[in-house]
Amino acid sequence: MSTDFFSDYTMTIDGKSATSPDSIEAFNPATEEVIATVPDASRDQLEEAISAARRAFPEWSARPVEERQAMVAKIGDVIQEHAEDFMRLLTLEQGKGRAGAEWEIGGSVIWCQEIAKQSLPVHVAEKTDDRTVETRRVPLGVVGGITPWNFPVLLAIWKIAPALVAGNTMVLKPSPYTPLCTLKLGELLRDVLPAGVLNIVSGGNDLGAWMTAHPGINKISFTGSTATGRKIMESCSGNLKRITLELGGNDPAIVLPDVNVEETAKELFWAAFQNSAQFCVAAKRLYIHEDIYDELAAALVEYAKTVKVGDGSQQGTDLGPIQNRMQFEKLKNLLADAKADGQRFLLGGEIAEGKGFFVPVTIIDNPPEDSRVVVEEAFGPVLPLLKFNDVEDVIARANNTDYGLAASVWGRDTAKARAIADRIEAGTVWINEIHSFSPHVAFGGHKQSGIGIENALDGLSEYTNAQTIVTRQLQPAE
Ligand code: NAD
Repeated sequence: MSTDFFSDYTMTIDGKSATSPDSIEAFNPATEEVIATVPDASRDQLEEAISAARRAFPEWSARPVEERQAMVAKIGDVIQEHAEDFMRLLTLEQGKGRAGAEWEIGGSVIWCQEIAKQSLPVHVAEKTDDRTVETRRVPLGVVGGITPWNFPVLLAIWKIAPALVAGNTMVLKPSPYTPLCTLKLGELLRDVLPAGVLNIVSGGNDLGAWMTAHPGINKISFTGSTATGRKIMESCSGNLKRITLELGGNDPAIVLPDVNVEETAKELFWAAFQNSAQFCVAAKRLYIHEDIYDELAAALVEYAKTVKVGDGSQQGTDLGPIQNRMQFEKLKNLLADAKADGQRFLLGGEIAEGKGFFVPVTIIDNPPEDSRVVVEEAFGPVLPLLKFNDVEDVIARANNTDYGLAASVWGRDTAKARAIADRIEAGTVWINEIHSFSPHVAFGGHKQSGIGIENALDGLSEYTNAQTIVTRQLQPAE
């Protein structure tokens, strides 16, 4: 199919293009220009999408898993074929630079290829001559996917690939801030998937809320903020929908005194600022041992000065703008609060006049532990450096949060680092590296960072119900 990536954004409902009388504007966050309008789905259109997914379910779920796996692998091929356009469009709508776009689109291809190799084994609990007890996994029905604006393509694929391999059909809603790549993906897949298997609808938060309340949807797989996650959990109780919630984080990084300061400073910079820190698992609180605090802080600032913030479509840009005005205003407010509190900025803090939602890399020197920059998830390039001298104290401070998404520990003595990692309340703890994800490694939050798992067979199984079949063999008739 020949597709113009940069215009004509339509929804995909029952394998067909769908427009809507109402529309939403999509902006380029680097220029604040309107780049496209997309449909704002009506309630009736959501009904059509859910009905189409329900109609497609019996045939799709009855196919051998190998066929579904092959189609998910094909989704990866389609993204690969159009990788260049996806990367350009992703930069345009999300703001990220070329390296970030390559990581996200390349990762989406790998996820399709790898999730396509997964299937859930049947567990045989008992097998004798006269009795068999086995538990198999069966699909749920229609899955509703709801995604955020920081990694719109990859996080959609994290849902689409396992949901379809497991035998479900789907209605997926991208964030109203970043709908373009997802709508194009739906358009390209009209020729690949049977009608109704993957429906893509665009709209605002109301559309998401209609999905979570709808009795025709059996599960919601959501990535976004903890505040929205709570609302979704409540709304899903109506028909006891299954939920997977991947929510916010306030990840600590603990830096022990025996690290190589220069090397670690560079790694920590990217740990904190990748994707302009619009990253659920960004290192958001840097706890640095007092013996190396000054040296590491200086090295971080020096390295930060070499990094270029700008329009992601310009060559040489390392970090793009904040994706939307709402988040930009939140960050302005957070910076104003830090200033009013008399906190010391080692770098950044001043937002320049002009077009685009640009926030400079901002590093704050040892603010109070209860200040907003420490307690809140900034979701932007504002990083507090915090001093510690006692391991017990730093573990307590790292865990003193309602979040529990991920964490990292940095130290040459890996046994010491591991002893700390073992006591961190988070779904993933990296030691001397960070942000390594895999389709075959479980990812999910503890505490209020989420419920459930994405990736690996644990993640795949969340798109299924367990079904136990007990068979007693009757004796042959006399
Ligand atoms: P958000 O919660 O505002 O929105 C996410 C999605 O939910 C959007 O599609 C939105 O339209 C929809 N939505 C909003 N209100 C809804 C409602 N009442 N019912 C149903 N759907 C609704 O989040 P965001 O601002 O787009 O994303 C940023 C947040 O996402 C951060 O907190 C970040 O940490 C988190 N995040 C988590 C992960 C993870 O894997 N844990 C990954 C990326 C982002």
